[in-house]
Amino acid sequence: MITTLHPTPEVSTSVTGRKPSKRKTFSVINPATGQPFAEVPAGKISDLDAAVAAARATFSVWSATPDRERQRLLHAVGDALQSNMAALMELVTKETGKPLKGLNGVGSGMEVGGAIAWTHATADLTLPIEIIQDNDEARVEVHRKPLGVVGSIPPWNWPLMIAIWHVIPALRAGNTVVIKPSSLTPIATARFVELANEILPPNVLNIVTATSDSRVGSAMAGHPGIDKLVFTGSTATGKKVMQNAAGNLKRLTLELGGNDAGIVLPDVDPKKFARKIFGVGFHNNGQTCACLKRLYVHETIYEELCAQLAELAKNVIVGDGLDPETDLGPLQNKAQLDYIEELVVDARSHHGRILAGGHPIRVDGYFFKPTIIADVTDGIRVVDEEQFGPVLPVIEYSDIDDAIRRANANSNGLGGSIWSNDTEKAAQLAMRLECGTAWVNEHGALQPNAPFGGVKQSGIGIEFGHWGLEENTSIQTVKMMKRI
Ligand code: NAD
Repeated sequence: MITTLHPTPEVSTSVTGRKPSKRKTFSVINPATGQPFAEVPAGKISDLDAAVAAARATFSVWSATPDRERQRLLHAVGDALQSNMAALMELVTKETGKPLKGLNGVGSGMEVGGAIAWTHATADLTLPIEIIQDNDEARVEVHRKPLGVVGSIPPWNWPLMIAIWHVIPALRAGNTVVIKPSSLTPIATARFVELANEILPPNVLNIVTATSDSRVGSAMAGHPGIDKLVFTGSTATGKKVMQNAAGNLKRLTLELGGNDAGIVLPDVDPKKFARKIFGVGFHNNGQTCACLKRLYVHETIYEELCAQLAELAKNVIVGDGLDPETDLGPLQNKAQLDYIEELVVDARSHHGRILAGGHPIRVDGYFFKPTIIADVTDGIRVVDEEQFGPVLPVIEYSDIDDAIRRANANSNGLGGSIWSNDTEKAAQLAMRLECGTAWVNEHGALQPNAPFGGVKQSGIGIEFGHWGLEENTSIQTVKMMKRI
């Protein structure tokens, strides 16, 4: 097991079976300042091998641990997160930039609170044996068995919550785990692993932190000792993971990028709906897989809704997430800031009308003014690509069938939404969207008991509820003949 990572500038590592030693480290940047605030060990492939070997060695013990005991331990992990909530929130804010509270309560409080809620909800799930035949001839049972070692590779946007989404169902089903957090945001996850390891038996949950050069991530995807990989990140990296995983036919859950469309019907009062629509596009600075990223608005209310959204964008408070007044923090990293600027420059060059924002904020840190762009349409990068930042393109439409066709004309299929006073009609339209989750008068709202996953190139597989838990298992059918 490779663990004991201290989220402070002083680094201490210990590798089971070896003496703690001074090892190479890398810096983690606080995006609100652009300055390093912590050092973590730069794990190597040999560390990954050791973590996988430790996880494999303990699988037989953990998978045989009585179900109720596994539930008890995982609830205890949830309680430990709860007891450490304030400290974890601060770590999440420092490494991601997201505010403690944030726009509409979407901040590190929600991230840690969500991590706690998902841990308890997942601990409560069960995997009952299904009996599909029981008569004079035979009894046929369907059992769910753990797979072995599950690898977890989360992204940087919701690092702790997504780590929980990967790790807890895997453990609940009886697997052991090796997690490699994003090099940009390993700190809160390392602290979670430390807390969990005060409760779980040794080597059940293992962590390897590594630099951004992707060698350890690639090695995980290809590792013959890992039976399943849960990956959340960009579609481009997801494709590489899938190729690398072919060697041992690793089971995969891929939660990938999204470019979610929202369609606003003409019966909507822009004044009444604007705040909610703005929130679901801009919370966490747009850096959420299932944020609303393309807004299609009917021509009769287009100008008014654009004006309302622009007003909200101008007035939202952007700043250091540690300030309790902040609504939106910085982008998480410099590359993302540069990408957002590039998309806005491109939109301008295609006659996009910038109604609010449109440029970085020139202070230390990776801040960008919340931006509303009108008069853009499909075929322009900010509409076609997943922007993953505080920029919302607003696209005018006149015919709902055409709007749905355009919403679906994208390789992503994570979420989508319809906004209307007529919820039944909106639900019928929402079901025509090609996406894993369709919302009416909402967007991006997830819950632990509702399945979540992407269609098309937004991913493979499902998380949450019994659907997500079952993805951490294989089926064994047991047929017992009653007559020879
Ligand atoms: P990313 O693909 O750059 O990185 C994701 C993770 O993969 C990181 O831990 C990274 O270190 C690791 N990695 C990089 N190269 C690798 C390789 N070759 N093999 C294995 N691992 C490798 O994504 P990101 O920039 O961290 O996250 C943003 C993306 O994640 C967005 O596209 C967003 O939509 C997506 N996302 C999706 C969901 C979902 O549930 N569908 C949730 C959150 C984020």
